[in-house]
Amino acid sequence: MSTFLLEISYLIGSITFIIGLKQLSSPDSARKGNLVAAAGMGIAILATILFHQKDGQPIGNIPWIIAAMGVGTVIGWMMAMKVKMTAMPQMVSFFNGMGGACAAIISIVEFNAHPHGSSGYLLTVFLGLVIGSVSFSGSMIAYGKLDEKIKDIYASFLTYLNLLLLILIFVILGIAVWQPDMFGHSVVWILLGLSLIYGILFVMPIGGADMPVVISLLNSLTGMAAAFGGFLYDNPVMLTGGILVGSAGTILTVLMCTAMNRSLLNVIIGSFGGGGAAGAKGATGDQTVKEISLTDTAILCAYAGKVVIVPGYGLAVAQAQHICHELEKKLEEKGVEVSFAIHPVAGRMPGHMNVLLAEADVPYPKLVEMEDANPTMNNTDVVIIVGANDVVNPAAENDPSSPIYGMPVLKVWEAKNVIVMKRSMRAGYAGIENELFFHPKTKMLFGDAKDMLGKLVSEVKDL
Ligand code: NDP
Repeated sequence: MSTFLLEISYLIGSITFIIGLKQLSSPDSARKGNLVAAAGMGIAILATILFHQKDGQPIGNIPWIIAAMGVGTVIGWMMAMKVKMTAMPQMVSFFNGMGGACAAIISIVEFNAHPHGSSGYLLTVFLGLVIGSVSFSGSMIAYGKLDEKIKDIYASFLTYLNLLLLILIFVILGIAVWQPDMFGHSVVWILLGLSLIYGILFVMPIGGADMPVVISLLNSLTGMAAAFGGFLYDNPVMLTGGILVGSAGTILTVLMCTAMNRSLLNVIIGSFGGGGAAGAKGATGDQTVKEISLTDTAILCAYAGKVVIVPGYGLAVAQAQHICHELEKKLEEKGVEVSFAIHPVAGRMPGHMNVLLAEADVPYPKLVEMEDANPTMNNTDVVIIVGANDVVNPAAENDPSSPIYGMPVLKVWEAKNVIVMKRSMRAGYAGIENELFFHPKTKMLFGDAKDMLGKLVSEVKDL
């Protein structure tokens, strides 16, 4: 009976993961999808504790398990409650790293329990260990970079060192599986150490524009590592969960690569977006920046036929999504056609702008993807850029020396008027100058996005 209940709970868990994932694909149902999948996971965990048996014995150490779950739940809950919306990408990276660490620990425990398992068993153990550890240390570096605590480190020798490390890891892994006596018990620590170092060195040089690809790649690695854990324990719900995360992460990685016009190999061995403040011409002495007043901006927008709003990371920092929606509604009341042009890597996590604007109830059809937005730029009267920078940088198109050269961007300069709303002339995530700010069509509206949009809405109302 208990086996039957266990199997049923795993089936429920697997089905809720699939339903949850499906619901996560639309902002309207995403919150529900998250809860459905979490409930399924809760059922599977509870059923495992209650009904799982090994050699006819129920699970032991129940107080320890419950205490560990309690500590984890309290820490996770507190982190999630405290985190600012702008720090969400860091937190996602951190949690992703924790998933990798769990998979690695499972492998270490399993190896210690069965060091003389079959080749297939050892292969699963070591793959889980290597992928989980790379995902853990890589995610921690990604966390530090997103939090601006860790700077990119570029050195061409890192490419070769990384390649060498990767080969070394797989050679040792192969020997450990097929000649287990050669390294003995210590192999698990050798593989752990090398994989942790590889994870750090692999993410360290990857700069600005390539971070979204790396983040989705690390996500898929954690999924794969969890799936290996599912194999080890012959646990269908862990396997399904791991495969879903792994495949969703892989699809996202491919989509991100396409969006950035990059091959995965280039991302992994190159350092696109690197070079810090290098590249991109801009604030040379002979270039001047033109400013525009709030009143002139309001007049320009209210009497335009078509306005496109380009949101970026600054929108998230300012939490200006609601007031941005307000501006859209006010302009529409005046007969202006308004839409939002969404760049695939705007913000700090995949889909960041979609999430923010959905939270403010901006109707989904108003969000236009970059490929569809670009061809309409030349018949747009005004583009208002709200806290975006790298995703509208023309250097990506016309400056081969720029670290973001080749990345598709929103061609806002093709519109009749461009208004850039940001606080200063500071660079964006990639750390490079933006020539758009000096373009003849561009006018700067300096200030915090929420504050300026609020004032703009009042000005438009008064017209
Ligand atoms: P950027 O980081 O290029 O620029 C954001 C701009 O917002 C800054 O220049 C800043 O200028 C401005 N800003 C910050 N706070 C405010 C505020 N309160 N009010 C108004 N403006 C503000 O953002 P983009 O969205 O254009 O580009 C995203 C970048 O992040 C890309 O380089 C991308 O590769 C990278 N990235 C994206 C990830 C993803 O998955 N989407 C993940 C990791 C990195 P100022 O300080 O002058 O106000």
